Amino acid sequence: ARRKLIAGNWKMNKTVSEGLALVRELKGLVASLPGERVEVAVAPTFVSLHAVAKELEGSSVKLAGQNCHWEASGAFTGEVSAGMLKDVGCTYVILGHSERRQFFGETDETVNKRARAVLGAGLIPILCVGETLAEREAGRTLEVVERQVTGGLKGFQAAEVATFVLAYEPVWAIGTGRTATSAQAQEVHKSLRAHLAKLYDGETAERVLIQYGGSVKPDNAAELLGQPDVDGALVGGASLKAGDFAAIIKGGA
Ligand code: 13P
Repeated sequence: ARRKLIAGNWKMNKTVSEGLALVRELKGLVASLPGERVEVAVAPTFVSLHAVAKELEGSSVKLAGQNCHWEASGAFTGEVSAGMLKDVGCTYVILGHSERRQFFGETDETVNKRARAVLGAGLIPILCVGETLAEREAGRTLEVVERQVTGGLKGFQAAEVATFVLAYEPVWAIGTGRTATSAQAQEVHKSLRAHLAKLYDGETAERVLIQYGGSVKPDNAAELLGQPDVDGALVGGASLKAGDFAAIIKGGA
């Protein structure tokens, strides 16, 4: 069976000292949870990664970047490379988050280039996909997420694809308090897995972790994480409080 991955995306929140206080509390709470099959990760801002990595030494909690550039180094002011994220202690890198797509011009093509760099650095991409409310209401949900997955994974071999994490994050559910129902999430996750089987093969599709993201809270986590094709959660707001995040992790255990 696939493991579960619960990741906290801090977005543009927490100073270094606030981030340290959060992971200090979180480490303690996670250590007392049974979940061998649940992996936990946090994605602080770039400026906090180094300090948080030190704080997480000896803990099972993994570290993730929120984005990275596709080039290894050079004159790209304001950017961070995959190799730098690996060096600072990251295991995962979130790519193509809807906020990056909406506000920073991210496309399937640039996400694909970033994913190539992430794999090249020995890191695991968390590739985010999701439809807007208008797209859902127009009945285009599956078409949109399948296009994003196909584009993001372009040029990768099946063995590489098997290492990816996908995150299904319906844009209308992000930060809105409006969660997809567990049935809505399961339907999209199942379709995405079928799409992977069509693009690659059944075994590869079975290995890919597919997280759900969008207003995951302690009171809806267990229901969402109980769905057969929901392999974890990408948590925004509720990951900023150690107690809430730990309660969500417990819901996946
Ligand atoms: P919220 O949990 O705040 O809705 O954010 C979800 C998200 O975008 C995680 O990447």
